[in-house]
Amino acid sequence: MSLTQLARAQVQALTPYQSARRIGGQGHIWLNANEAADSGSFSLDCSRLNRYPECQPPAVINGYAAYAGVAPEQVLVSRGGDEGIELLIRTFCEPGRDSIIICTPTYGMYAISAETNGVGIIDVPLKASRQPDFDGIIDRLGEAKLVFLCSPNNPTGDLVEQSSLIRLLEAARGRALVVVDEAYIEFCPEHSQAGLLADYPELVLIRTLSKAFGLAGIRCGFTLANPEVVQLLLKVIAPYPIPEPVAQIAAQALSEDGLARMRARVAEINRLKAELAGQLAGHAQVKDVFAPNGNYLLVRFTPGSAVFDRMSRAGIILRDFSGKPGLADCIRITIGQQAEMDAVLAVLQQEQ
Ligand code: PMP
Repeated sequence: MSLTQLARAQVQALTPYQSARRIGGQGHIWLNANEAADSGSFSLDCSRLNRYPECQPPAVINGYAAYAGVAPEQVLVSRGGDEGIELLIRTFCEPGRDSIIICTPTYGMYAISAETNGVGIIDVPLKASRQPDFDGIIDRLGEAKLVFLCSPNNPTGDLVEQSSLIRLLEAARGRALVVVDEAYIEFCPEHSQAGLLADYPELVLIRTLSKAFGLAGIRCGFTLANPEVVQLLLKVIAPYPIPEPVAQIAAQALSEDGLARMRARVAEINRLKAELAGQLAGHAQVKDVFAPNGNYLLVRFTPGSAVFDRMSRAGIILRDFSGKPGLADCIRITIGQQAEMDAVLAVLQQEQ
């Protein structure tokens, strides 16, 4: 038997995660992974690196709870939001038996985590309005343990409507958890669903420091949930998931100064995004600019793949969604710095 044949059948069928860097190849302007253009600077105290870190560092938990307006008992810190997603699946879904509901097109990790854990995937696609099909989800609730919604949705940028979410939460009571992924919520904080956590124990939110906080490199994310759910996730999470340097940087990012820097970054990104959206709207090759709620714009070009290739040749790496169902000709552009946005527009304006 080959080494590959020794592996779980489920694993043999998978392909390794393609990092944004590898896909980018020769690029010099990176606008494909919704990263921030800067991280700010931090200080590190290396005097305690001989010791294992705290499993859930109190400065990080308390800092995030204060920032998010929840109790520390409602916060779990993990290696990025991605680990929070995976932990929810591993904690609540029995492999080979249970399923999750996703609403495509949406963030890919929900399906990837389900697949790697032998958990079923029920796709209830977004409606033509790009809102989740809440009636369709409620109809299939009996078959799923977790429902994954994303608001702002990656890649379409749309927000989940609160009245419909409440209807789903009521239907899900005692049956399934409803996860709202708010990885991009800092770009439109007034639309957070955190205010519902107190009344709906089945609601779970995913958050991250990778986007508005500019810290994708430290891999730090949060799950906000009922304390009972947090306790369950703590049974499954790896020991010492948050390295000491990560905890120090996260705590600084969540300080008053850190939050002020994050809000200034968000204001600048939102300004550049509005400017780019305006310039794209009048462009002959642009058919549609989708909802501008995250740190990215999804744009339908005529045709998408040609624009993507021209950008690549100019060293600008965007994210091509044009082959995905419902997203024909759609390319996602992360909002970077002014010069990067100018470079995108310059390529678009070149003669073809
Ligand atoms: N949710 C969404 C919608 C995302 O786009 C991302 C990152 N691309 C994440 C979660 C996970 O982010 P991280 O693991 O970097 O915290």
